[in-house]
Amino acid sequence: MNTRPKPRGPSRTVEGHFARKRFGQNFLTDQNVIRRIVAAFGPVPGQNVVEIGPGLGALTHELIGSLGRIQVVELDRDLAAALPQRLFGEGELIVHQGDALRFDFRTLAQGPHDLRIIGNLPYNISTPILFHLLEQVDAIADMTFMLQKEVVERMTAEPGTGDYGRLSVMLQYRCEVEWLLDVPPESFSPPPKVDSAVVRLRPHATPRYNKVDEKRLQQLLTAAFNMRRKTLRNALKGQGDPEQFEAAGIDLGLRPEEVDVATWVRLANMPGPENRHE
Ligand code: SAM
Repeated sequence: MNTRPKPRGPSRTVEGHFARKRFGQNFLTDQNVIRRIVAAFGPVPGQNVVEIGPGLGALTHELIGSLGRIQVVELDRDLAAALPQRLFGEGELIVHQGDALRFDFRTLAQGPHDLRIIGNLPYNISTPILFHLLEQVDAIADMTFMLQKEVVERMTAEPGTGDYGRLSVMLQYRCEVEWLLDVPPESFSPPPKVDSAVVRLRPHATPRYNKVDEKRLQQLLTAAFNMRRKTLRNALKGQGDPEQFEAAGIDLGLRPEEVDVATWVRLANMPGPENRHE
């Protein structure tokens, strides 16, 4: 009879720390990948860099050497407490123990578009973190994130492709979104079940699109992409006056995934259901 204990799934102890699944802890261990991510990020001494989820300090170690000073936001109390010892003597480390989803990053900025943010993000909260940071985009110079590859495909998707949707439009409205590199599961411990990729978001220095009420844009996109196989005529039913849309030159025969960001912004700036005059 086999009396060996059952394997505990992908959770394991890494450098003496038991990886907590609920915090999405997959630690980067491949030094080559770590160096490539930091090179793509391009740290310059004196820049105001904040890392989200430093974990055991794989990226932090590489970054602090070039920067001399770094701030980090880490939810796991044990990891946050242990990090100064791990990186002792390598540079100035400022640890903020807390939830990045509730953190006011603006308090760390010295002026507009000052912060450079980097993180190998927990995959289970990656989209909420992106939206939380978009609300503070006036303080941010750029953001470099490791995410599930499938999410990066949606973030960078162009109109006319199957991955193009709500996330693509909301992010591309605010930022230039650039795919940097792919990272396989073997680069982490424990390895995640999915492929990963690193992406950079750089807020547009001057607005690329007309200003829009982002809540209205979200509402319109959610309604439309819930019916992504339908034409706009059907997918936008109840979202405004189709005659007005057509009079503004919008082709209601298109499917939501064929509509570019500028056109979504125009649609969102037209009268919605609540102020439609019959
Ligand atoms: N940066 C490390 C690396 O690359 O090896 C760790 C990356 S691991 C995927 C995600 C890290 O984010 C963990 O250290 C985890 O504790 C932390 N974390 C999870 N949820 C968080 C949150 N809401 N706010 C801040 N940190 C969080």
